Amino acid sequence: MLLTITNTQPPATDLGYLLHKNPSRVQTFDLTFGQAHVFYPEAQVERCTAALLLDVDPVGLVRKRRGLSGEGGTLDQYVNDRPYVASSFLSVAISQVFGSALGGRSKDHAELVDTALPLEARLAVVPCRGGESFLRRLFEPLGYEVEAVHHTLDEKFPEWGESAYYTVTLRAHVRLREMLSHIYVLVPVLDNEKHYWVGEEEVEKLLRHGEGWLKMHPERDEIAHRYLKFRRSLAREAISRLVDEDNPEPDIAEEVHASEEEAVERLLSLNEQRINAVLAALKASGAKRVLDLGCGEGKLLRLLLADKIFEEVVGMDVSHRVLEVAQERLHLDRMSARQRERIRLIQGSLTYRDRRLAGFDAATVVEVIEHLDTARLAAFERVLFEFARPDTIVMTTPNAEYNVRFETLPAGKFRHKDHRFEWTRREFEAWANGVAERFGYAARFLPIGAEDAEVGAPTQMGVFTRHD
Ligand code: SAH
Repeated sequence: MLLTITNTQPPATDLGYLLHKNPSRVQTFDLTFGQAHVFYPEAQVERCTAALLLDVDPVGLVRKRRGLSGEGGTLDQYVNDRPYVASSFLSVAISQVFGSALGGRSKDHAELVDTALPLEARLAVVPCRGGESFLRRLFEPLGYEVEAVHHTLDEKFPEWGESAYYTVTLRAHVRLREMLSHIYVLVPVLDNEKHYWVGEEEVEKLLRHGEGWLKMHPERDEIAHRYLKFRRSLAREAISRLVDEDNPEPDIAEEVHASEEEAVERLLSLNEQRINAVLAALKASGAKRVLDLGCGEGKLLRLLLADKIFEEVVGMDVSHRVLEVAQERLHLDRMSARQRERIRLIQGSLTYRDRRLAGFDAATVVEVIEHLDTARLAAFERVLFEFARPDTIVMTTPNAEYNVRFETLPAGKFRHKDHRFEWTRREFEAWANGVAERFGYAARFLPIGAEDAEVGAPTQMGVFTRHD
């Protein structure tokens, strides 16, 4: 299986930086299903081509499978088209071998990542279930000029007719990461087969790699159905989440509503009490490397930076806009080099598994969970407790019972218009204890702000400690 990508914008060899692969070398990577080789058949200033050659080992695959489940290998397990065609193996190879390019990451060439280039991708053999018209319906709406050469089943026996295989060339002025994400999602859709079990995680992959284009795609539903291999409930979930995200300016809404929330809570300067309580819990845990998830404008980050105990501080938020504000308020650009090394701001969503979140001593999630759709809480739980898995998690959320004490808050209203829910103490504790139990943590609860005998404190805090 061969994929080539050609850049014709001088200096075309920038492709090497984008792919994080040196044009002057051949590199080989061991994957679970075989090997991937990356090399450059041409690397000139005007034209540079990178090739990804997959060497899928069908015998090894069957052996591995047999080792696991005791199944015998049938002939079609040994003799099939998988080694030769573009399939979900290609997607896995792209994510493993070109992962940084696919994720749009580049330390030294950030501007290049965001530059649209005249690119051409050529897939040597693609099985197109649904034919050339389906192939065009998938790629043309994304701006590609599509060239497809159909292959007969066997040249010696033309009467056997056409095969399902095409050589496909895609040309467009696009960012490399977009082109890779299109191929990543759409090749398995064309092939309509997956070599691995399709589970919940695939919904996240589809949404992550479909970000920015899948929602508007005319074949969106068909893509979701096929990608998720006709598991209807998964496809429905993916489609509803794509449709859900239609709010055009969430950042602006967030800003306006945040100031309303502050006004409601101002009397108590609840904000300060909350941050101090979180800080105290962090210190008690002995954490040195801390993640602040949903960091907003960075109020907690500022306190963490001021305390030398914390050696590494990372703030993450889904909103680019609040991250810009945080960057300014923390004066990141004027910081000493030593101080600057201690802090990073990253953009990301708490409902997507993210490798950057792994390996921290503690994570804080201050006034954030109530902004998540209840339908996405399960994803959030796994992202934080299963994948990021810090030793300590400190979480705060409003105590809904207390709302009756806010004079300016009409009855039955949430404190912030973007809150999707506000929990009573019992609701939060039931949820937190359930999560703790499922993921191997112990949870304890503390009130924040002046406690009212009847309705409790305005804010509730949960501190989770990992068992192992
Ligand atoms: N922790 C901060 C901000 C709380 S406001 C503080 O206490 O001041 C909630 C923040 O969560 C907002 O900045 C919002 O952009 C962020 N947020 C909402 N949904 C998110 C998601 N899915 N992933 C990451 N951040 C999210």
